[in-house]
This record gives sequence, C-alpha cells and structure tokens, in this order.
Amino acid sequence: MNATIVLLPGDGIGPEVVKQARRVLEAIAARFGHKFELPEYPIGGNAIDSCGNPLPDETLEACRNSHAVLLGAVGGPKWDDPSAKTRPEAGLLRIRRELGLFANLRPTKTWDELLDASPLRREIVQGTDILFVRELTGGIYFGESGRKPHASGEEAWNVMIYSTGEIERVVRVAAEAARKRRGKLTSVDKANVLEVSRLWRQVAERVVKTEFPDLEYNVVLVDAMAMHLISRPRDFDVVVTGNLFGDILTDEASMLPGSLGLLPSASIGSTGPGLFEPIHGSAPDLVGKNLANPLATILAAAMLLRQSLNLETEAKAIEDTVSRVLKAGHRTKDIAGGGPSIGTTQMGDLVVAGLNS
Ligand code: NAD
Repeated sequence: MNATIVLLPGDGIGPEVVKQARRVLEAIAARFGHKFELPEYPIGGNAIDSCGNPLPDETLEACRNSHAVLLGAVGGPKWDDPSAKTRPEAGLLRIRRELGLFANLRPTKTWDELLDASPLRREIVQGTDILFVRELTGGIYFGESGRKPHASGEEAWNVMIYSTGEIERVVRVAAEAARKRRGKLTSVDKANVLEVSRLWRQVAERVVKTEFPDLEYNVVLVDAMAMHLISRPRDFDVVVTGNLFGDILTDEASMLPGSLGLLPSASIGSTGPGLFEPIHGSAPDLVGKNLANPLATILAAAMLLRQSLNLETEAKAIEDTVSRVLKAGHRTKDIAGGGPSIGTTQMGDLVVAGLNS
C-alpha cells in the first residue's frame, strides 16, 4: 500500500514522541512491504512562532490531502498569555472542525503488566477494555451561548442541542466498532431530565434496532455511568455518548489504566483523513529530558493503521509488540513506580527491534 500520513509533532514533548512513532511506522512499512510518505508540518505554538497562525494553510492543505494525520501535542507555558491574539489549542479545534471529525474514539484498556499503576484495586480493573465514542462537534460546546443582566448580577446560558443526523452518524460509528469487538454497545444519556437526551435515546435505539440488531444494546444514565466506571468497568465494551458527557467520562476512565502515557485516541469523520493522537498534552515538565513515554503515540499510530488504512494485521503487530515490551519489564519513568526506567528513545528502540524480530 502507498499512503501519506501527515505528522504534526506540535509542541513540548510532541516532537519527541512523534519521532518514535515515525520509526515504528517505518518499521511497519519495511516489514509488510508498504510505502508510507511521512511529511511533517507545524501546528500549535511553534506554528504561531513561525507564522503567527496555529494552523497554517499549508498544514491544513497537507492534512486534507493525506490518508491520515498523526499529532503529538500542542501548547505550553510560552503561549499561555491570556491576552495573546491566538492560542495553540485554536489550531487543534480548527483542524477537527475543518476535517469534519465528529467522532472521538478513545480505547481505555488496562495492561496486566501495569495493574499496580491503577488507583483502583487490581480485581476491579483487570480485564477492562472499553472503547468510548464521544460526539465531538455538536452538543452544548457548540450550542448558542450568552449572558445578560440579572437582578442578582448576570445570568449566562449554553444550549445543548443535537439533531437526528448528528446522533445517527456517531451511533453508527460506535455500532460498527462494537461489531468488530465484543458486540456490546451502551448509550449514555440523561433522558430522565433532558429533552435533548430523550431525542438521543430515541434515535440511538432506532439506529441500533434497525441497522445493528445483532448487537447487545443497553442505555445508562450518565450519573450512574460515572459510578459503574469505577465499580465494574469490565462490563462495558463500546460506550457512545454526547460531547459533554463524553468529555467527563473519558477523563474519568483514563485513570483506570494508571498512566496517561499509554492512551491513544482518534477523531474521525464520515469521509477524509482521521486525526490520531495520544490523549496526553505537551508535558512541559519533561521536554528535552528523554523522559516522555512514547507508547501512547505509538499506539495512536496503530489505531491509525487499523482505522484509516484498514491494516489490522499491522496494527495488531504494533500492539502485540508493545505488550511484549511491557511484559519483559521495560518501563519509562511514568509507569516504573519508582523502579528502574528507560528513556523515550530506548522505548522506541525496543518497539522497533520487536517489530523487526
Ligand atoms: P499533560 O498531559 O501535558 O501533563 C500532565 C502530567 O502527565 C504531567 O505531569 C506530565 O509530565 C505527565 N505526562 C504527560 N504525558 C506524558 C508522557 N507521554 N509520558 C510521561 N508523562 C507524561 O497535561 P497538562 O500539564 O495539563 O498540559 C500541558 C500542556 O499541554 C498545556 O499547554 C495544555 O494546554 C496542553 N494540552 C494539550 C493537549 C493536546 O495537544 N491534545 C491535551 C492536553 C493538554
């Protein structure tokens, strides 16, 4: 296969972790006989520095013309001035919007080798393997908002709004994913209180019952889901929900495996390239110290191969290699629990060597 994968290293530790993911993609191309073009473009704070725009036109154009995009992270203290004209995060929000990336996929899986890093007891988290599908371009973050004077000072509002079409398309993404996994789909809403959730529930149920009758389907209220996630996370396979609920629940769930450095995510649309990235930020405290864990970005590259290029065997090869490296006891500092650790580059070396062997 010939494919163009645009790399957006970004800021902070972004370039360090993307460098290791690039090596892994090159190793996959060599082993399986593919040709990957891997051009790099600026985004975020460094793009503000070089051309005053966190998403330069040439970056956006390159992404549009690619098969998929792999991003490191953006942001950092250098660009935190609240009075600045623009911010690194604006580049990220814009690229999601421009590429129509309405579904955010976040696999949350615990690794047996790292169960002691979880803040929860081993017997609760062991075997957790959830795929969250969060709606990303609608809901309360994009509804009408405003402020007006009030007898007590001011009042402010944000409207949570979803259309049938927005719900249908994200539920379909989740249902397709459930079919390729354990066949279970949970939709999370607040239908006992919110009208928008009642529409969500009605539409989700219709889509699943008519188009995916083979799935085991249930609905859970968001407040109950917050509890279930830390009391019985193993019971869930694919979870689909709106933007606000997904934002909160995925952060809660990201604590289950015990390290941010291991969690990838993908944002996809109906057509065009998807955007793949680690869930962590630019970790300014680690920059240039060879301490960042590159595995989340390497696992994001695996997701990219599976999701955007349909290369399941290649994706699995990366995931199995990461698993073997962890099983052999290799750890970066964030997951070493105070024990011996290796650096960013050495972790990349081990994954590349594992893929070549
Ligand atoms: P962060 O994820 O960068 O860091 C949180 C903690 O996790 C830090 O202690 C950091 O050292 C550690 N950490 C993060 N990634 C790690 C890795 N790969 N290996 C080992 N340890 C790791 O979050 P933050 O400190 O809240 O934010 C720092 C900057 O990143 C901010 O400017 C923020 O806006 C930005 N940010 C960007 C994204 C993104 O690009 N998608 C996401 C979150 C935060």
